[in-house]
Amino acid sequence: MRKKIVAGNWKMNNDLSQTQTLLNDLKKQVLPENVAIIVAPSFTNLYAAFESLRDHKIEVAAQNMHQSDAGAFTGEVSAAMLKSVGVKTVIVGHSERRSYYNEDNSVLSEKVNTALDNGMHIIFCFGEELDQRKAGNHYEVVKEQLEEGLFHISEENFKNIVLAYEPVWAIGTGETATPDQAQQMHHFIRETVAENYSEAIANQVSIVYGGSVKPNNVTEIFSQPDVDGGLIGGASLSAESFMAIVNAFQ
Ligand code: PEP
Repeated sequence: MRKKIVAGNWKMNNDLSQTQTLLNDLKKQVLPENVAIIVAPSFTNLYAAFESLRDHKIEVAAQNMHQSDAGAFTGEVSAAMLKSVGVKTVIVGHSERRSYYNEDNSVLSEKVNTALDNGMHIIFCFGEELDQRKAGNHYEVVKEQLEEGLFHISEENFKNIVLAYEPVWAIGTGETATPDQAQQMHHFIRETVAENYSEAIANQVSIVYGGSVKPNNVTEIFSQPDVDGGLIGGASLSAESFMAIVNAFQ
């Protein structure tokens, strides 16, 4: 049975007091046992989130990290820094990092290595842009992102990876992939993992979907056999909508 995961990417939202309010709202909820729940606040709020969630089921992730261990990289944050504030999971390859900060597959593969070398878990994001889907290249693009950014890692390390398929045209746009489109791509991703690693690893890796998942569309998406959860942006900013998504697995 694969792990079900719902992760909230808060992006550049919520100052310290808003972060604490949202965490307190989440902590008041009855949480399902069968779903791993992760929140990714901004860097400045990670320690407060870790402290607030100490011994709590909800885990904390960072939205990004630098590929180097330390050095003259003004404005950047290292894996060691994240670990020192209790963070064990990092999102790598979000489409906003790829497009606004020019993070290509090669840089992302370095980030993957650094995170793994530091014993961290990774939510590895990838997905095609609208013109690539329209041109029918979406499978090719996704395969390339996986092969160049991730598939150099060992079988052993694959257990530290969650795959997050996020079609760029569906992120923050209100437009979501249809449940069929999500299922077809997730199935393809699982086959690609099997080809590059093994059936066993493909069957064990959680593949979550991201792109305008909301309480009103989540049930159909999460009911697809190869969809193991979601990476949630906008709808993770309120405890009510985030919990409605988490509880869609019940
Ligand atoms: C995201 O940023 O990963 C995301 C899926 O955002 P949204 O849910 O707002 O589309």
